Amino acid sequence: MGDGKDIIALAGNPNSGKTTVFNALTGARQKVGNWPGVTVERKEGKAKLGDTEVTVVDLPGIYSLTANSIDERIARDFLLKEKPSLVAVVLDASNLERNLYLSLQLMELGVSRLVLICNMMDQARTKGLEIDTEGLSQALGVPIVPTVANKGIGIERLKEVLTAELARKEDPPPCPLRYGESVEEAIKELEENLKVHKNLSQRYPLRWLALKLLEGDQEYLAQLEMKEGNPSRGEIRAVLTTLRDKLESEIRYDLETALVERRYGYLKGLVSKFARKKWDWAERLSISDKIDRVITNRFLGLPIFLLLMWITFKLTFSVGGPIADLIDGLFGYLGGHAAALIASAHGPAWLVSLISDGIIGGVGSVLVFFPNIFILFLAIAVLEDSGYMARGAFVMDRIMHAMGLHGKSFIPMVLGFGCNIPGIMATRTMENEKDRILTILVNPLMSCSARLPVYILIAGALFAHHQGAIIFSIYMLGVVLAIVLARVFKSLFFKGEPAPLVMELPPYRLPTWKGVFLLAWQRSSIFVKKAGTIIFAAVVLVWFLAHFPTGAGYASQQSLIGRLGTILAPIMKPAGFGFWQAAVALFFGVLAKEVVVGTLGTLYHTGEEKLGAAIAQHFTPLAGYAFMVMTLIYIPCIASIGIIKRETNSWKWTAFAVGYSLVLGWLLAVLVYQGGRLLGLG
Ligand code: GDP
Ligand code: MG
Repeated sequence: MGDGKDIIALAGNPNSGKTTVFNALTGARQKVGNWPGVTVERKEGKAKLGDTEVTVVDLPGIYSLTANSIDERIARDFLLKEKPSLVAVVLDASNLERNLYLSLQLMELGVSRLVLICNMMDQARTKGLEIDTEGLSQALGVPIVPTVANKGIGIERLKEVLTAELARKEDPPPCPLRYGESVEEAIKELEENLKVHKNLSQRYPLRWLALKLLEGDQEYLAQLEMKEGNPSRGEIRAVLTTLRDKLESEIRYDLETALVERRYGYLKGLVSKFARKKWDWAERLSISDKIDRVITNRFLGLPIFLLLMWITFKLTFSVGGPIADLIDGLFGYLGGHAAALIASAHGPAWLVSLISDGIIGGVGSVLVFFPNIFILFLAIAVLEDSGYMARGAFVMDRIMHAMGLHGKSFIPMVLGFGCNIPGIMATRTMENEKDRILTILVNPLMSCSARLPVYILIAGALFAHHQGAIIFSIYMLGVVLAIVLARVFKSLFFKGEPAPLVMELPPYRLPTWKGVFLLAWQRSSIFVKKAGTIIFAAVVLVWFLAHFPTGAGYASQQSLIGRLGTILAPIMKPAGFGFWQAAVALFFGVLAKEVVVGTLGTLYHTGEEKLGAAIAQHFTPLAGYAFMVMTLIYIPCIASIGIIKRETNSWKWTAFAVGYSLVLGWLLAVLVYQGGRLLGLG
């Protein structure tokens, strides 16, 4: 070993600090999957152990090796099939009993190199727990490293232990857990019979297989049925049935439950031996309990949630706005200089136009909103990291439930405020396929950050004094629509009750600056990347269509884009913005919602300031509001459509998501405009 090809897998329960350990081990040398933050995709990084380099993989959080949700399947399959060189389990020291369950299963599985990381030692201490990691390590026969990962404590030691484990030649001692005489006898007998079953016994240790079959694990039973014509197939079945019957009549209890209980019993004993309570921590716990009682209160819970959301948006504008203005000034300055420079060098006029109208006008007018978006992601990260988000889910569960949505839909929905892609991917934690598809279908109604530039531009130009309230109302419209439509879709397509929510409330934590900033940066940098790729390409396309045919006049109605827009515009007339620029902005906005702003910027070829003035000229406030409603609802962006297809694995549902949103967006925009006029608003 130690040839530089070793892979270390980080496993553990959700919230035990895997990602923090991962960051501490790999530093900045990470390869983050497409949409990080939701640890559903694989996060990979390089760590230096002594003078060899290893690959570290951050797995989704799981509680056991029984795969119920997609998260669990991903993690389990990686552990079982890709066989990493070493598995490091991150444990929450303040909740050892429950956290050790996975480690115990890994030991039973016979993982050859296992290291336990006893993280959150500081939290354990505040709870009054004194953990003897030495003793625990000896009892289990596995190295254990105590850490406080977010402070970097214990990481050096961890690296040493990982190095030593990777270099170790001999096999680890067998798992010390025994199930009592009769079960052990049954295991032995099954092992004997399984030996001949080559396709299974070569892949898994016999003891593990025997246990899983006794437990009645569907995955393994199914594998047993495979391989048509295997002479031993029927025999093992028969042996298994006899053994199970015999044991169950003896235990007078469901065998699977009995085995799980046996494991927990073992862990309980282990923990009470090696993790001593120094003092009674009831008082400590009650502080968190008291906070919970307020935050998850039947009456206060929802107002508190709304208040936090309101503060989030308020911050997004009031802090982000001035920084955005600075950036805007910078772009204007650069654009002017670049254009002047090319002109003075006798560069062609089209190049000057491409730079100043297309790139500065288009991409620049989108990039200006980066500060707002970064702050939005920062606020979401703080809510997630502090432990509030889980409470939010708890509070919303009742409402979600009443509306036919599963409580677990809440987090995908909130993540949708950032970007619908991680939102949709986060539905993978949902076990029920119907709940999952329902949540995916309505997720695009959660207004993602890409739509924020459109709102800020329009509301800033038309509702200068009520910008915050106007934008908040658009977001809330999205939420209400999502809930109402979920109810409607549910009664149309997915009858039946949602599964009940079992949600463990993680302890409150002071978020660390580093963690929160890293998360916000990882998520918002996608925005910058988009600006350099798809938005750039779209804007150049728009510029091109606006520039030709020669002689038509830049961005005039006779240009190619003007003609396209003139065809589309009548459709939008009932919504109050029946001019061609608005129509093509929405048309190209399907590529990415930021392109709506990019297109307007290119066509009105101006910086944000003057762009605002052009908006004020073309839109009445009522038409502007209808335009925002349309932008909120109509057709998810291309990338979201792709994810919807991938996650529902159905063209039918994908087409439905596109179709309903287009029709609904148009209807509501028209309703807002016509209704508003009836009320004499515009
Ligand atoms: P994961 O989801 O299991 O990967 O967990 P994270 O790495 O995201 O950690 C969850 C939270 O616990 C974050 O807010 C971390 O900053 C925090 N955290 C991680 N390690 C420790 C620790 O040793 N002590 C304390 N108090 N907090 C920690
Ligand atoms: Mg994580």
